[in-house]
Amino acid sequence: MNTLSVKSRTKTELIDITAEVQNIVHKTGVKEGMCFVYVPHTTAAVTINENADPSVRKDIVDEMNKIVPWDDNYAHMEGNSAAHIKATLFGATSAIPISKGRLSLGTWQGIYFCEFDGPRNREVLVQTVKSE
Ligand code: ZN
Repeated sequence: MNTLSVKSRTKTELIDITAEVQNIVHKTGVKEGMCFVYVPHTTAAVTINENADPSVRKDIVDEMNKIVPWDDNYAHMEGNSAAHIKATLFGATSAIPISKGRLSLGTWQGIYFCEFDGPRNREVLVQTVKSE
């Protein structure tokens, strides 16, 4: 098991972790298999989306904040229900096939750590499974 440390700087943001995950895949030596990226937090998540135009990330964050507003008479006493809801919509896990030692991402895809209740110090677990 490999752990990435991620430091978020704002309340809601998507942080590109593609290079760090690829580096872990390289270190494990797995050439053919699967890479699992797991976020062990209840107010953060992981997603795969466009890594070319940064405005896509901004649009995702802006629209998520409209779909799930921070204040909406939530029952959860901690006051961060919006973050829990966003985290569960995005999910805690991404699985990416590994081929020839590389993540099989599409040309425009990147792996993003999704912060929904930052800023915080976070962890991302990365596990590779060999299939050859
Ligand atoms: Zn909470």
